[in-house]
Amino acid sequence: MAYYFIDGQFTKQDEIKISIDDRGYYFGDGVYEVIKVYGGELFTAEEHISRLFTSAAKINLAMPYSEEQLIGVARELIERNNLLDGHVYMQVTRGAAARQHHFPVPAVPAVVTAYTMEGSRPKENMKNGVAVKSVEDIRWLRCDIKSLNLLGSVLAKEEAKAAGCEEAILHRDGIVTEGSSTNMFGVKDGVVRTHPVSNLILEGITRQVVLQLCDELNIPVEEKAFTLAEAFQMDEVFYTSTTAEVMPVITIDGQTIGDGQRGEVTEKLQKAFATKIPSLCKQ
Ligand SMILES: *Cc1c(COP(=O)(O)O)cnc(C)c1O
Repeated sequence: MAYYFIDGQFTKQDEIKISIDDRGYYFGDGVYEVIKVYGGELFTAEEHISRLFTSAAKINLAMPYSEEQLIGVARELIERNNLLDGHVYMQVTRGAAARQHHFPVPAVPAVVTAYTMEGSRPKENMKNGVAVKSVEDIRWLRCDIKSLNLLGSVLAKEEAKAAGCEEAILHRDGIVTEGSSTNMFGVKDGVVRTHPVSNLILEGITRQVVLQLCDELNIPVEEKAFTLAEAFQMDEVFYTSTTAEVMPVITIDGQTIGDGQRGEVTEKLQKAFATKIPSLCKQ
């Protein structure tokens, strides 16, 4: 049985106890991260843990561990659970206290929870591409925080799934922001476009890796938002995330993008991305 990390201890799944008063449960009052594991090794772990601390600071949540300690927790979970390919999920909530909206007085310790999940790379979708559905972005105005408050994303993803789509392409006043849990990119005349970092999107680690790859491959980038109308006219559309990596989009609302196949730039970025994964390079 798999180990979880709860409240400072490595606990077997059937022995876990979580307080009914945990503020994550009542309010989604916390932050989280998903870190990919390839061949038993964490990928871009420092970047993810650093973002966890940034998210926590933005909601005035005091972290009970150091960045190094949390990377240690992730490593120990991988080892205890013999995880080869999958991810580590980690969340921090503002602790357990009688339900009141304001922060607990006196303050209570934050609760760190982490576990591992097996999963392989979505190779089929990465090759064939996926369908997405446009959904109005009704989320709050602090999308830069990787918060547990995910109702806007949950509703968008459900709407996409009900339409037989893999992801939602979110738009605010006609401008594409990102996906429900991914960052959106377009390619037009060889130039890669994506929404600039702001309060309206989560700055993805995979987004950063892809922008770095564009730099290395001399692919021009414009961090400039595009409209949904422009998205339909792109030569290529793709999205990025820790688990989706670089995912080609071949239709939006049933309308074909480009020639209806994984685009040239998208494929180039996928190949370059794979070279950044040590365990794949060793094969
Ligand atoms: C986590 C997330 C992403 C992708 O970030 P990665 O660090 O690349 O996994 C994009 N958008 C939202 C809203 C997210 O929650």
